[in-house]
Amino acid sequence: MNKILIIEDEVAIAELEKDYLELSGFEVAMENTGDGGEERALTEEFDLIILDLMLPNVDGFEICKKIRANKNIPVIMVSAKKDDIDKIRGLGLGADDYITKPFSPSELVARVKAHLARYERLIGSGVKGNEVIEIRGIRIDKTARRVYINEVEKTFTTKEFDLLTFLAENPNRVYTKEELFQEIWDMESVGDIATVTVHIKKIREKIEFNTSKPQYIETIWGVGYRFKV
Ligand code: CA
Repeated sequence: MNKILIIEDEVAIAELEKDYLELSGFEVAMENTGDGGEERALTEEFDLIILDLMLPNVDGFEICKKIRANKNIPVIMVSAKKDDIDKIRGLGLGADDYITKPFSPSELVARVKAHLARYERLIGSGVKGNEVIEIRGIRIDKTARRVYINEVEKTFTTKEFDLLTFLAENPNRVYTKEELFQEIWDMESVGDIATVTVHIKKIREKIEFNTSKPQYIETIWGVGYRFKV
């Protein structure tokens, strides 16, 4: 049976969520404070966590960050304010879903089921934890295909992601544009090595503090590029 933890200080809401989830066959635990919820989330085994944003003692932001640093289970964040949801999305805390209050309990149940099914597919496919590369403030989650720069998620196109990941996985090695083109774009691709230059430029705009003085992807004049560690 799947175990769900609800961290919610409004007891009436928590009880309602619990009732609906139990009717759907889940085992449900509740915590009404931030610190109590954080403790249980980190020390006990749950399959999914429903996390309210505004909580006494420790807020949902902090709890979500700590869960993400330790566990791979789905987290659904709940907030009464649409603005807060937009803000936390922007922070890239790694929650799997966001719901604005008030929501219908059946919608919550549907989302819980969807996230558990997705998570179980991931586990079933043999992927235990997400494969993550971390280099000086850049975190590349290869499994989820997400990139965080100083904990802020940035959006990358497929090829930008592939190129960044390839370079980060092979640091301190110089690659020519031809090599990178062959590696990332298959041979049937339209385009040429200028595509590599364009993609490097776009990646730098997202990861570098100052694109004219790149700290990560260096240009080796006359040769190509290198991811510096
Ligand atoms: Ca609250």
